Amino acid sequence: MDYIEHGQFKVYYSAQSREIAERLMNITEKSYPVFKDLFRADHDLGLEIFWADDEDWDKIPLCRHKGNYGMPHMVKGKHHTHLVILPAANLDMPETLVRIIEPLLDMKELSEDDLRKLTGWLAPMRGTTGEELRKYLSSADFYVDFLVEIVHMHEIMHDFCYEFGIPENYGRDGRKAWWVFEGLAQWSVLWVQRHLGNEQWAYIHELLYRWMYRTGRKQQGNVSPIQYENYAWFHGALVEMFCQLEEQFGSDYGPAVLSLLLENIQGRDYLNDLEVVAIFSSVAGQDLSQWFNTKWQITGQKPSFS
Ligand SMILES: [Zn+2]
Repeated sequence: MDYIEHGQFKVYYSAQSREIAERLMNITEKSYPVFKDLFRADHDLGLEIFWADDEDWDKIPLCRHKGNYGMPHMVKGKHHTHLVILPAANLDMPETLVRIIEPLLDMKELSEDDLRKLTGWLAPMRGTTGEELRKYLSSADFYVDFLVEIVHMHEIMHDFCYEFGIPENYGRDGRKAWWVFEGLAQWSVLWVQRHLGNEQWAYIHELLYRWMYRTGRKQQGNVSPIQYENYAWFHGALVEMFCQLEEQFGSDYGPAVLSLLLENIQGRDYLNDLEVVAIFSSVAGQDLSQWFNTKWQITGQKPSFS
């Protein structure tokens, strides 16, 4: 694979994807200072990004999903390497992504306001009619945009979380708050894209995931959205959860929660569900345990810190 290298960043790409590789480098360089700020990082992190074509999978180091075009992932572990592996656009659109955009393709489900914003933001590049938007949203172009503007931000956030003490093996057993690990990655897309002046991507991210959550809910009935095995829908629920909190407590709320999480996780392997809920409550200035319990079915052990 060819690569571009700028300072601590390296983007590997297949021959026909130079333009996308440059775009990935650009957004990585722009967003890194924002992530560093969020974590009050005292050192730099390197990052290797793979824009992996179908035939490139063999050449990717430590790839857990070889032969499987599943969504991108980081390699985890104590001394993790800083890798982001993105499936290039010559692969079929992963099922997860189809699930995410599906609700938006049925535009009559959108409110007037959402449709107006979506059309307004996408029109200059992508056309003005509902039909043109629908075409764009189901195209490889959108797949690339989605990976670069949304998924890549999500993966960088994971890297910072690993590096500064919020591990993925946070637990999937309902005891340890795994949801906060994936939640942070989703929420950071909003924080970082807004900070970069890319309001439209923050908004499209919000719209996609909240719509998927709401429409999925009708089909799923009364199951816990944050434990449900439908991986895409789980992410939708996390975005819905966070956007509701943000609507109530303001746009500084999320980064403040991150700060307190980082403080409290020092010297610990993980925090359990109720410890995380206590942190959300503390930043909100009110007890949110009822809300987390009834709305998201987050229950568990009592906090071990006060
Ligand atoms: Zn993730």
